[in-house]
Amino acid sequence: MIEDAKQRRDGVLAAVAAACKTAERDASSVSLIAISKTQSEETISALIAAGQTSFGENRVQEAQQKWPSLLADHPEIELHLVGQLQSNKAEEAVALFSALHSVDRSSLVTAIAKAQARTRKTPRCFIQVNIGNEEQKGGCAVAELPKLLDDARAQGLDIVGLMAVPPAELEPAPFFALLAKLARNHGLSELSMGMSGDFATAIMLGATHIRVGTALFGAR
Ligand SMILES: *Cc1c(COP(=O)(O)O)cnc(C)c1O
Repeated sequence: MIEDAKQRRDGVLAAVAAACKTAERDASSVSLIAISKTQSEETISALIAAGQTSFGENRVQEAQQKWPSLLADHPEIELHLVGQLQSNKAEEAVALFSALHSVDRSSLVTAIAKAQARTRKTPRCFIQVNIGNEEQKGGCAVAELPKLLDDARAQGLDIVGLMAVPPAELEPAPFFALLAKLARNHGLSELSMGMSGDFATAIMLGATHIRVGTALFGAR
């Protein structure tokens, strides 16, 4: 199993390197986050053994069950929250994760600010943008981004960039390009975009953090 994990990871890293070369970017400018939702501690351990140090989960509760023991054994690991965050879970999330990718509304900004004061931790935060304007999806509307960003900065959140998940059935490139433009306009340097099916495109358009599950772990 460790061999499989290593092979899949090597394959993804080679594809990342190829995309970086085409884009004339340094490979070290792209951080590969292994999305380990639904994966067992055993499967995760195999990827850690292969050298992976950055992981992401989409649910606070699931992460609380799996990660404290893994993090105790591997303090070098950075854990990212990439799924929606409920305000009543903000304190647990701030305590556990190095980075939160789904900050998308004022009430959540306030809850994170309170959690930061209580835990004395300041995770790096990405504002999630509902880039395809989809009804069911998380993320703030493009038009609301300036106000939410001001609010988050005023309340002491460490906003480093923007995150988005483009509409599943459409060509993702225009949405990645729009997210990159919004980040540039607001002086944000980090872009969390690109998953197993489209990370090469995301890298071409400036992704600094790609969130890859299936390509690293196999189908969920
Ligand atoms: C599950 C998930 C991913 C990874 O998706 P894959 O297609 O398995 O690579 C990326 N981002 C978010 C927000 C996710 O929930």
